[in-house]
Amino acid sequence: MTTRKVCIVGGGSAGWMAAAYLEAALRPNPRGTVEISLIESPNIPRISVGEATVPSIRHILSVIGLDQVEFMKAVDGSFKQSIKYVNWLHKDRHFYHHPFSRYRQLPIDRTGIDWLMSDRSIPFMETVSAQPQICDIGMAPLMLGKWDFGPPLTYAFHMNAQKFADHLRDIATARGVTHILDDVVEPVVGECGNIKAVKTKKGDSYEADIFVDCTGFASLLIEKTLNVGWEDCSQYLLNNRAVVMQVPYDHHYPGQVRPYTTATALSNGWVWDIPLMSYRSIGYVHSSDYISLEAAEEEIRAYEGPHSQSLSSRVINFKVGRREKAWVKNCISVGLSGGFIEPLESTGLYLSDLATVMLAEHFPFHDEDMDTMSFRVNRIMANRFYEIMDFINMHFCLTRRTDTDYWKEVQKPERIVPRLQAKFDYWKRKPPSMSDFEDQFFPGMPTAAIANPGGYAGDHRTAIDVAGLWNHESYECIMYGMDFMGDEYRQMLGNNRAPSRVAN
Ligand code: FAD
Repeated sequence: MTTRKVCIVGGGSAGWMAAAYLEAALRPNPRGTVEISLIESPNIPRISVGEATVPSIRHILSVIGLDQVEFMKAVDGSFKQSIKYVNWLHKDRHFYHHPFSRYRQLPIDRTGIDWLMSDRSIPFMETVSAQPQICDIGMAPLMLGKWDFGPPLTYAFHMNAQKFADHLRDIATARGVTHILDDVVEPVVGECGNIKAVKTKKGDSYEADIFVDCTGFASLLIEKTLNVGWEDCSQYLLNNRAVVMQVPYDHHYPGQVRPYTTATALSNGWVWDIPLMSYRSIGYVHSSDYISLEAAEEEIRAYEGPHSQSLSSRVINFKVGRREKAWVKNCISVGLSGGFIEPLESTGLYLSDLATVMLAEHFPFHDEDMDTMSFRVNRIMANRFYEIMDFINMHFCLTRRTDTDYWKEVQKPERIVPRLQAKFDYWKRKPPSMSDFEDQFFPGMPTAAIANPGGYAGDHRTAIDVAGLWNHESYECIMYGMDFMGDEYRQMLGNNRAPSRVAN
């Protein structure tokens, strides 16, 4: 039987997620034995943001076989059921929710058209989902002790990113993943162009068949060693910096942890407000071309209130784009080394999830498998990235705010991804529907999750919902929340009756 050595370089969320998931998904395996090691620098800190997730996280936890209560305790976790968008359309406390659960009509979903044909006196999402109201009254998506029956609503978690990586580290190492605390200083490339080994500061050398680059934005293996290019996408997503703070609960809603993320548009970007069990994480995501660091810091403190003057802050620079190929030769990039679409909608950990699950599904048990598997994974990763980028771009370009140069800029035609513009042009002729999204059946996850009866209740539903992440339902939510084609659809379809709410 073959033995394949996997060496993961980097021990942030992406590295430890890859280690724990690959260990669970690939061992034992009838096709071969897999030995996993992870090298983590004791000197380079993790980025340690990534505190809001999407429901795909539950698939990962389910395959790893984590107990949900233990997990939530370990990571300071709280439930996330929705993102509440505030002030994105206008600067006047306009808001709408993007919840994870909603009613969908089968076999043909006409809920969007029905709402467009109504007088729209109830916001669209509130006609197809009870989750916005459940969020607003602070209820959880499921009841303690009742998980055997499966959760009634789809959810994800808010969590402490540092504790998340630590928790996965403890689980992975207890199951046999080798943890090496050292700095990789010199990757060694063999004659065929594969990475043969990595040499470390302490003078050791580690050989492997497959290397996973989880070194974050440093991209030590995929970029600095294999010279794989970076496709810059900053033309469409302007933000490149965040000012981040942790706010203790004594200043806000004592006793209540909100079960949703809030994304509030500010003068030159937006602020995330992520409630964890013991503090709130807030971060002003903005463009350094439009606002100075001092002004951004002042604005986030004004958002939070006078008590924030005594709180310390952290500045994080980031870049938006994708690795031209996620997997080249025997090296696959997972996490920030592979790409990043700004923090909105929490797509960072999702893309790490996706790359990890794809590696497990397409694991090269033989060197001859490498090209075939990498070709397919690269295609999936590229398609998914572009699809998500369109979706995130849409949040900005549908704004009607004109109060700053930043908000005027994001609406300009050259700031709209051409693929998204093509979708808009098409949807000017007909409202969006499911058949507009060819890639919404996400390969790998549904079968993998359903095949894992050891997970907690609700995994099956999660898997199905993961398949539908950012599909036509999410588009409808943002488009109707942002009044896309409001008057034009009125003329096209008429509107002459009160909207009805459906139960879910
Ligand atoms: P890092 O956390 O940077 O880890 C890199 C690791 O590599 C570290 O362990 C480091 O020590 C190691 N390393 C580096 N060089 C070497 C070397 N030479 N030798 C050995 N080890 C090395 N995602 C979400 O899903 N939700 C969110 O809400 C969210 N918010 C975000 C907000 C911001 C401002 C940013 C920038 C990102 C956000 N993300 C979010 C993305 C998320 O943070 C990342 O996807 C996730 O943390 C994975 O990071 P990583 O492990 O790739 O990198």
